[in-house]
Amino acid sequence: MSNGQPELDAVKWWGWGLESKAYRLDDKPQFWPYLRETLKLEILVEPPRATIDEIRLPDSRLDRRTLARLKKIVGDSNVSTDKYDRLTHSVGKSYLDLLSMRRGKIRNPPDIVVYPGSEHDVVRLLSLAQANRISVIPFGGGSSVVGGVEPLRRKGLRSVMTMDLRRMNKVLDVDAYSLTASAEVGISGPQLEDALNGKGFTLGHFPQSFQFSVLGGWIASRSAGQYSTQYGKIEDMVESLTLVSPSGSVATKPVPASASGPELKQLLIGSEGTLGVITKAKLRIRRLPETKRFEGLMFKTFRDGINAIRQTMQSDLVPTMMRLSDPDETRISLVLSSQPKGFLQSVTRRLGLWILGQLGYLSPEGCLMILGAEGTRASVEAQRDVAVRACKRNGAFGIGSGVGKTWLNERFELPYLRDVLLSHCILVDTLETATTWDKLETLHFAIKKSIENAISEMGVSGLAFAHVSHAYRDGASIYFTFIAPQVNGREVEQWLRIKKAATDSIMRNGGTLSHHHGIGKDHAPWIKDELGPNGVTLLKAMKKQLDPKGIMNPGKLLETTRRFPEKVVESE
Ligand SMILES: Cc1cc2nc3c(=O)[nH]c(=O)nc-3n(C[C@H](O)[C@H](O)[C@H](O)COP(=O)(O)OP(=O)(O)OC[C@H]3O[C@@H](n4cnc5c(N)ncnc54)[C@H](O)[C@@H]3O)c2cc1C
Repeated sequence: MSNGQPELDAVKWWGWGLESKAYRLDDKPQFWPYLRETLKLEILVEPPRATIDEIRLPDSRLDRRTLARLKKIVGDSNVSTDKYDRLTHSVGKSYLDLLSMRRGKIRNPPDIVVYPGSEHDVVRLLSLAQANRISVIPFGGGSSVVGGVEPLRRKGLRSVMTMDLRRMNKVLDVDAYSLTASAEVGISGPQLEDALNGKGFTLGHFPQSFQFSVLGGWIASRSAGQYSTQYGKIEDMVESLTLVSPSGSVATKPVPASASGPELKQLLIGSEGTLGVITKAKLRIRRLPETKRFEGLMFKTFRDGINAIRQTMQSDLVPTMMRLSDPDETRISLVLSSQPKGFLQSVTRRLGLWILGQLGYLSPEGCLMILGAEGTRASVEAQRDVAVRACKRNGAFGIGSGVGKTWLNERFELPYLRDVLLSHCILVDTLETATTWDKLETLHFAIKKSIENAISEMGVSGLAFAHVSHAYRDGASIYFTFIAPQVNGREVEQWLRIKKAATDSIMRNGGTLSHHHGIGKDHAPWIKDELGPNGVTLLKAMKKQLDPKGIMNPGKLLETTRRFPEKVVESE
């Protein structure tokens, strides 16, 4: 599939992606044996998932008068107190979210889900919400992995309205002269790319959640796409935006740059629904690349690979992507590679592995890099020239474009594996951060140790592996995945312990609290450490101005008083 928009009603409420799709493991015979051995798994059990019928939600607290007024604003069919709608808007897609969906234990469903069709609807809905003490949760694709869309209760607010923005999905304008495009925020990745590609353009923003996340969610959580090394993060792509707050609207000026004081736009990007609803944005677009080339390179050590990325990024020309797996992730990538098809492929694969082994690239320290370049033919050649030379200087061995093509074809597939693992009682989650080059290796080591210690402290064997995911002239982002058998009856506590250990380690070792997932409720307890007390006070003053009654997404981003629980009782 290219940019096909998934049918929303065929999306899994209990997992990731489409109901009709599952991660294929039948052609990856090494996977389960490897996992059994590494995680010391004895039996793989598959507990039954809750069905929708079995799930009980508390009754909606919204009174009939307010319901009627909401219907008057957006129309009867765009207001819902249906169980399915409330359920599918009660959490995002984090590990704990999926765990609670599978168990059917939903703590905070919204009282009502509303689907506005225009900015005018949003203005009227916020005015009604403020007057009636209803909290508002802006909802894009709902793919937040930091608890960003969970409706948390706040004292003094009577009920919760989740505002699903996906009806607002129009491209408003494409300016081929200035290379900008304006769009409403509910447009999904595939809808936006299809519209732009049709006119010969691209935004170039491809987070792994691309197929199911939307423009407003990307902006509100400062998202990063897989090609951010070339195209930048979403905050680099937004030329201007409009935010509707309970106190009124803020529209930033569509200009390429400005010295009119601090940049207001950047204070609104990343506001995670706590200041208001972003309704539209003008984006910087690019011409569609003429060609692309993705290929693999092997390094003898992680350090060699990091040096190659640093040297490339500090040169004059950067490629689209340099994604470097650490040794453990490299091993997992090998284990997850499909069986060769036919005799010839099988012989070529064996020969390739034999050569790599002989040359010392398959030692326990060996690391895989995927190098991607796209643009005009000349620019792809030039990007490759700089990057491949830096890689070779650091001892890399090119393994061709096969592995690059596989990565490209499967880049949106891996999240489906999470559902398979969860079905087998295996904890699997990811986290990310960024730091400067001088601290990157120490940070990588410290996070890995902290996760592995936290896993083993609960008596199970686990694995933490990572890749350098997004690179800059002065540093890079590092993205961790961790897996472990679930500790039966203490699954939530197990995750909390790992999350706390890893985040404390990030903060101690010079990493940022988040490079692209955002803060939500899960990272909020550390926001003061990240921004400093004055920084938090400043942002709170902004919130007070735009959202004086505190109705916008309570409990997220700036909630400094929430303590990360040391211990959680599973029945909570
Ligand atoms: C499998 C998987 C892969 C992922 N890969 C990536 C990745 O590669 N890169 C990356 O950056 N992230 C990734 N994420 C995280 C997530 O997809 C991003 O944070 C994404 O930007 C969220 O977009 P969304 O539309 O789903 O937003 P939602 O989850 O709906 O919302 C996210 C936050 O933004 C707020 N919000 C949403 N819309 C608006 C609006 N219009 N106005 C104001 N506030 C709003 C919400 O209230 C919430 O706080 C991944 C998540 C999953 C599950």
